[in-house]
Amino acid sequence: MALTGIQIFKLLPKTNCGECGSPTCLAFAMALAAGKAELEKCPTISPEAMEQLSAASAPPIRTVAMGTGEYEVKLGGETVLFRHEKTFFNKPGIAVLLTDKMADSEVDGRINALKELQYERVGLNLRPEALALKQEGDKFLDLVKKAAATPYTLILMTSDAGLMKGALDITKGKKPLIYAATKENVDAFGALAKEYACPLAVKAQGMDELMALTEKLGAMGIKDMVLDAGSRTVKGAFSEQIAIRRAALQSHVKSLGFPAMAFPCEMTSDIVKESLIAALFIAKYAGLIVLSELKGENVFPLLLERLNIYTDPQRPMTTDQGVYGINNPTPDSPVLVTCNFSLTYFIVSGEIENSRVPTWLCVMDTEGLSVMTAWAAGKFVADTVGPFIKKSGIADKINHKKLVIPGYAAGILGDLEEELPGWQITVGPREAALIPQLLKSY
Ligand code: SF4
Repeated sequence: MALTGIQIFKLLPKTNCGECGSPTCLAFAMALAAGKAELEKCPTISPEAMEQLSAASAPPIRTVAMGTGEYEVKLGGETVLFRHEKTFFNKPGIAVLLTDKMADSEVDGRINALKELQYERVGLNLRPEALALKQEGDKFLDLVKKAAATPYTLILMTSDAGLMKGALDITKGKKPLIYAATKENVDAFGALAKEYACPLAVKAQGMDELMALTEKLGAMGIKDMVLDAGSRTVKGAFSEQIAIRRAALQSHVKSLGFPAMAFPCEMTSDIVKESLIAALFIAKYAGLIVLSELKGENVFPLLLERLNIYTDPQRPMTTDQGVYGINNPTPDSPVLVTCNFSLTYFIVSGEIENSRVPTWLCVMDTEGLSVMTAWAAGKFVADTVGPFIKKSGIADKINHKKLVIPGYAAGILGDLEEELPGWQITVGPREAALIPQLLKSY
């Protein structure tokens, strides 16, 4: 936030009513300045102060939404140069290129790839989201019609304002990204972005031209822009991404405060190199990446990299505490207990599913720590596991009192037997891969 706590305090009602959850307006102002409170929590703030503070607290890189529904992609909104400083917020959208010169079978194949390349991991669905439709021949509108029938987010790529208008008519309500306003067509494309309320990509040859174009479009009232500074060499495009991010965050250059695109598809014809280039731009700092084609062996590593880089490093991924029935368990089924670190949960539940043995899995809240770390931190010990099992309701679902604890928590066995009198507790394997063997012999 650009304003200090004292500057924010001057704009607050100063009634110290406490409705925001802070005891005083000053405490709330300090929390706001530190990014630890939300402005909306104060119900009595004046509209003028709200507007002033909202503008001051907006991220230096604007959040731009494209597409609608489940495939909507949010770009930008970033506030730091390095992930460990806070977190990155909006993962870059991944698009595959289609041109109107491609054979129908190729277009269909790429659309099918987008549909099929979806991966479940730690409870999330990892997938590319967008189709980039490029005009190279004279069948652009046919291509747009076909793509508009899919649920994916669209990027419309033509420099012809008339064709773009036709494409926007076809895709009404889908909020595609218009690509791109250039110095040759800026007035016409700016007018289209306004008329159809769609985000607008801005393409320039270099940073100076880019800033001049975004300033001009800003003056026309265009707010949602996506930047393309024009380089198609890895070195040039990488430098531009960094220059844009630094200018927006460190020098507060408003004309560069927008997410930026990258086109690995135009930097090489080698699919492996293209994936490596895309990996570079996922890390720094593309908001939208266009690939030439989608193959599982190339896309999956990119999706995983994106997941890792855009996961908040200060918050472990967690699963809700509770009792999970896997493979339709009955009152006779075995009971396992584990922690709520998402990766642990999905590995353990995956192995139980693979075993096909009906099983109850009790997941205890360890604040996202793995079993061994939680045990070392005193969060997965007899004093916590025992009360959790008693309160979890598992005893009402089963007709026995047998419990399997993780191998890495073997040290709590004796104390847990005291906490859970009458229960028969056994130590399971350390490695989740051995769980099916255990369950089949249970
Ligand atoms: Fe002050 Fe608003 Fe918080 Fe009340 S709700 S204490 S007026 S900041």
